[in-house]
Amino acid sequence: MSETVRVRYAPSPTGEPHVGNVRTALFNWLFARRHGGSFIVRIEDTDRERYEKDAVRVILEALRWLELDWDEGPEVGGAHGPYFQSQRLEVYHQEAMELVDKGCAYYCYCSSERLQEMRREQQRKGEPPRYDRQCRDLSLPPTPNLVSAMGQPTSESGRDEDNETKAVVRFKMPLSGETGLDDLIRGDVSWQNELLDDFVIIKSDGFPTYHLGNVVDDHVMKISHVLRAEEWLPSTPRHLQLYQALGYQPPLFGHFPLILGPDRSKLSKRHGATSILEYREMGFLPEALINFMSLLGWSLDDRTDMMSRDTLVEHFSLERIVKGGAIFDREKLLWMNGVYIRQLSPEDLAQRMSPYLEQDLPSEIPRPLDQRYLGRIVPLIQERIKRLDDSAGLVSYFFQEDLDCDLSTLIPKEMDPENTAQALRQSLEIVESVESFDTASLEERLRALTSELGLSGRQLFGALRVAVTGRTASPPLFETMEVLGRQRCQSRLQQALQHLMALKAK
Ligand code: GLU
Repeated sequence: MSETVRVRYAPSPTGEPHVGNVRTALFNWLFARRHGGSFIVRIEDTDRERYEKDAVRVILEALRWLELDWDEGPEVGGAHGPYFQSQRLEVYHQEAMELVDKGCAYYCYCSSERLQEMRREQQRKGEPPRYDRQCRDLSLPPTPNLVSAMGQPTSESGRDEDNETKAVVRFKMPLSGETGLDDLIRGDVSWQNELLDDFVIIKSDGFPTYHLGNVVDDHVMKISHVLRAEEWLPSTPRHLQLYQALGYQPPLFGHFPLILGPDRSKLSKRHGATSILEYREMGFLPEALINFMSLLGWSLDDRTDMMSRDTLVEHFSLERIVKGGAIFDREKLLWMNGVYIRQLSPEDLAQRMSPYLEQDLPSEIPRPLDQRYLGRIVPLIQERIKRLDDSAGLVSYFFQEDLDCDLSTLIPKEMDPENTAQALRQSLEIVESVESFDTASLEERLRALTSELGLSGRQLFGALRVAVTGRTASPPLFETMEVLGRQRCQSRLQQALQHLMALKAK
């Protein structure tokens, strides 16, 4: 790439970011890192009505969690924060004024009632909704609301300060001709100018609209490539016209395919379009999400699914982004998460499971949890865990004092309380007497016991499993017993025996 790559992620804090938003961040980040360029984060907080304060926090936290680090921004406490458009209003006003002075934009005084009425009428006639350009050729001075919002002296307006009419500034779209784009992903696209209306660039509250803020900032921030989701494609002719009117060189544009649910409808909450941080709560690993999201519209080749962050940075290219919708397959994400979990070292997995365990294990289990003990449990469950929030369910019996199990499962098929008790009593003796309490010794002694009692492995080990874990399914029994330790196995077998005695007595 000859020129310096400068790309940006420009979320609007109107809600929590979901997979679709964050995929845009990821693709921009990968592109910047691939080309040794800069990745900029710009919070487009100019829609004050839909602004949600917490969304900014979540957006930044999600980027940090996924380690999508950004390269510049105003200094905040020693680090650089992202850019916030709400802190840059003068820049937009200046540019809007220049457009008005050049005759490329105008003040519009139409009341909201008039605009509503116009819209109703257009709907009635089956016409597309758009502004009828009534104010396009007026030459009135601005109303107080905009003059003061733009920091100019109100007295010059010569208007009544209490004037109710709230003006906006609109851009003069050319009335004929075409606006064309050579999109890096979608190829040639063009729009008839007459179909596009004179859109607002400064709202009545003095804030710029998305179109103006976005174009001015992409220019001022020297953005080389605007890479965003397809839903922004219809805005692009407006942006290109603004670039031209402002005398700016436009950047290159590329629009990523929409993300669809497995039924090919637009991704919704139902398909998993929940806030990205909910994936963290559900126990997805950031590296799994990065890998998974990288495949939402891009691929390395036709085969490779599993790719580390480094591989992605090395190979990411716009050429391999598809035009057609990318399917969001939740099952695949789950599978991928399991694969990443199995690749972790047991120590790393134990560390990542800890916050989930601290939160989810029953409160009577003393905290902090014994990390050394957890480190021994982890290899037993690493094959089975698909999400970190499965942790408590998979390991609770290692920590619980009393097992809350269904003791009716204690008695194996074709056995009764009597011979089950006898088998467990002899197992208890082995547990108490075996010299070294390890997998091999336990296995040797307990297997010998099956032949001695004329029981199948399924019968004896099934009863033992329920007695020591409270479950009918667990990791391999002897390993599990070794980790539980002699004392726990002993007391659990005693409890099971008491239960069987009680049954017999009935
Ligand atoms: N603020 C827009 C958003 O919420 C930015 C779109 C763009 O990248 O131009 O996604």
